[in-house]
Amino acid sequence: MSIPRAGRAPDDLIAVPPPLIPEFARAEERRHLLATLHLELRACARCATAGYLAHANAVAGTRGRIGDRVMLIGQAPGHLSVERGLPFSGPGGGVLDRWLVRAGYTPGALHREVYIAALTRCDPGKNPRGGGDRKPSPPELALCRPFLLRELELVRPRAILLVGGMAIAAFLGPARLEDVIGTTTQRNGVHLLPLPHPSGVSRWLNDPAHQSLVAHALEWLAEWRRAWAAADAVHPAR
Ligand code: SF4
Repeated sequence: MSIPRAGRAPDDLIAVPPPLIPEFARAEERRHLLATLHLELRACARCATAGYLAHANAVAGTRGRIGDRVMLIGQAPGHLSVERGLPFSGPGGGVLDRWLVRAGYTPGALHREVYIAALTRCDPGKNPRGGGDRKPSPPELALCRPFLLRELELVRPRAILLVGGMAIAAFLGPARLEDVIGTTTQRNGVHLLPLPHPSGVSRWLNDPAHQSLVAHALEWLAEWRRAWAAADAVHPAR
């Protein structure tokens, strides 16, 4: 895996790779490669070595397996996720799980059926100026991006939930939440669905009009889920 030069910000959007990559076509091989990637992630300390983090702790930044149809991409894990060793294990994860239930999933689907990834995989710590967690810096994003690109190649999700402004901007470019929540786009046959961050720190969700946008977004996910189930009825799931 090539590693970007530290100190260089990723100035391009993240591209979703084509769904069929011949050398990774066999699920068994993809499972093996993903397991190896997870080991690399857990051992990674690039940001600490480069001085951007006091400690690397990537164990809490990833959950999932080959076959997960939905990939969720957030900003970075927070301290609760690190304490519990699981991404989105705090109140925000509870909100996301309830959103999935509204889209037709059963409770607990977030940590059972969704591949959870992030722009960076270690807790960046609190924002020293307040207002929640610190946003990962451009060099941290650049150092961690190869992991995410590799996961996109291996997992081949059918839909990607872009959770929070930073993940949305990484794939779609800078945008106001009001302009993108409730919309969807496709990249190489993969649905991209922007969602707001579920954290209580954000007041965006307090506006009823914004809740309507979220409801519309969840309708998209529900529709895709029904289509996947209908396809499974004809052909077994991969
Ligand atoms: S954020 Fe990503 S690149 Fe940086 S140390 Fe953690 S796993 Fe490695």
